[in-house]
Amino acid sequence: MNIIQNFKNIKDELSSLGYNPKIVAVSKTFSIDHIRPLIEFGHRIFGENKVQEAQKKWTKIKQDILDIELHLIGSLQRNKADDAVKLFDYIHSLDSEKLVTALIKSEKKLNLKRKYFIQINTGGEIQKSGIDSNNLLDLLKFIDGQLDVVGLMCIPPFDQDPENHFKNLKSLADENNLSMLSMGMTADYVKACKYNADYIRVGSKIFGARK
Ligand SMILES: *Cc1c(COP(=O)(O)O)cnc(C)c1O
Repeated sequence: MNIIQNFKNIKDELSSLGYNPKIVAVSKTFSIDHIRPLIEFGHRIFGENKVQEAQKKWTKIKQDILDIELHLIGSLQRNKADDAVKLFDYIHSLDSEKLVTALIKSEKKLNLKRKYFIQINTGGEIQKSGIDSNNLLDLLKFIDGQLDVVGLMCIPPFDQDPENHFKNLKSLADENNLSMLSMGMTADYVKACKYNADYIRVGSKIFGARK
């Protein structure tokens, strides 16, 4: 497993296609020793899906390397809002008024400002987090500029062609003057780039299969 080569291959593939998204290297489940070569190579953007796991792995490294940008890509429970705001630079899973309220409170209390993506459940899957696209405007009104919402995120249903989902997310962002898109994983990041993904979230193609 050559993590750096894997990472370079993705960069090269994308640049040969004319794409240059930011790559969130999704390091969930992997130990910091497994991840370290990519940090030493100079990559700075990493993603985790669980607050507690991320705290254990990243708290010290983030103190040592100040420009590490850590992204929470998994769903967030309100009672972990403080911990998430403390550790993560970006949170990709904003999906309810209650969570918004908790995060505003945490940011005030900790005197920190973070960046957020609102997660859209583009496939309307009951088991998946994210809001229905029809509720986006209401959530934005509720947020009313109190959180720095930079864009939209989606995870298309596994059993569907992701292309329509990426296309819909892009239109929805354009309609609401949101500039950034977080979309595309190992299986579909090239397609996501076709619809202007700003952040792709790639795990297994960089770090190998998760156990
Ligand atoms: C795990 C995960 C990824 C990365 O998945 P891969 O298929 O390993 O690239 C991306 N986004 C989210 C939200 C994830 O949970």
